[in-house]
Amino acid sequence: MNNGFDPFDTASLIVAHDDGNAFDAVVPPIVQTSLFTFKDYDDMVASYRGERVRPIYTRGLNPTVRMFEEMLAKLEGAEDAIGFASGMSAISSTVLSFVEPGDRIVAVKHVYPDAFRLFGTHLKRMRVEVTYVDGRDEEAVAKALPGAKLFYMESPTSWVMDTHDVATLAALAKAEGIVTVIDNSWASPVFQQPIALGVDLVIHSASKYLGGHSDVVAGVVAGSKDLIGRIRSEAYPYLGGKLSPFDAWLLIRGLRTLPIRMKAHERSARTVAERLQDHPLVETVCHPGLGNHLPPGLSGTSGLFSFIFHEGIDVRRFADHLELFKLGVSWGGHESLIVPGEVVLAQKAQPNSAVAFGISPRSVRLHVGLEGTEALWSDLEAAIAVASLG
Ligand SMILES: *Cc1c(COP(=O)(O)O)cnc(C)c1O
Repeated sequence: MNNGFDPFDTASLIVAHDDGNAFDAVVPPIVQTSLFTFKDYDDMVASYRGERVRPIYTRGLNPTVRMFEEMLAKLEGAEDAIGFASGMSAISSTVLSFVEPGDRIVAVKHVYPDAFRLFGTHLKRMRVEVTYVDGRDEEAVAKALPGAKLFYMESPTSWVMDTHDVATLAALAKAEGIVTVIDNSWASPVFQQPIALGVDLVIHSASKYLGGHSDVVAGVVAGSKDLIGRIRSEAYPYLGGKLSPFDAWLLIRGLRTLPIRMKAHERSARTVAERLQDHPLVETVCHPGLGNHLPPGLSGTSGLFSFIFHEGIDVRRFADHLELFKLGVSWGGHESLIVPGEVVLAQKAQPNSAVAFGISPRSVRLHVGLEGTEALWSDLEAAIAVASLG
């Protein structure tokens, strides 16, 4: 389901932007300014009265940021979108716009660790209760929902790659009048369009695939005019996590190649995952695209997945013998990366969030980038061979 929008039709990503001030440039200018001036008193007062929409101050409205928001809304089949300074800013501003003390939210297990920490600290202090459910268990979700204010989903999750039947879960929440939110960073709008599946609000860490070049930290939330309007008038101006014009410009650049990058990540990652699955030293591969059918709602799979080694493999030797795969957190860029589960479990700050993330000590998370598949496979195969001699 994709709202009739073909995500592979890259031409449709190029939105009209020349307002007469852009010299017919094929790439839009960056409106890198904090404020906008007025012709005279009447012009200023008319703008303040809201008689016309025009930028006044960049935290409120900036043309470059707006262009990114409109492109992303179009890609997600949503009426509107707001850009943020990070994915976490998008998550916290969205959640905080819909809860009050005494409310309860329902969240799926294995959500992004900093979302988990937000729920366990700030929301707890606000006396907002969070009930975690296994999103794969529809009965458990249906039982947990009544009386909740918000249903927070992430599918697939980004370590163990749990996949949920997003349309079914969204319908359960809708029947209870509960606002639904999904973190769609993993699939990107190319492979999952949650609005068409009945979800109200779609969040991305734009630092991942939307940007795609590992040079920007940003976030975005898309949804109906009504719900986005609520976030725009509540948490967004006061929490202040504004997307900067330059970062919005980098994201506009990234979005132009999103469909072809996603296709390349998909093809390469699936090949690597299949070969790992057949490797005698690998116990399990967690990749949503390995069955005969894709999970419901997904039309493709991205470059991020994990696998678990058999016992006795020296993960440290494996990591240190890789050449193309770099050790690094995050994902979604052109480069291939690994994160060993042991390393994340060793972190000092709130290690319980790594446990809640579903990380096994023998697991390794891979992001398969845009390098050649065969070169990446040779790199992995050689490092596994060395690690098994340890
Ligand atoms: C990275 C990430 C986030 C947080 O985004 P930032 O841009 O780093 O703030 C949220 N959700 C998922 C699934 C992520 O991978």
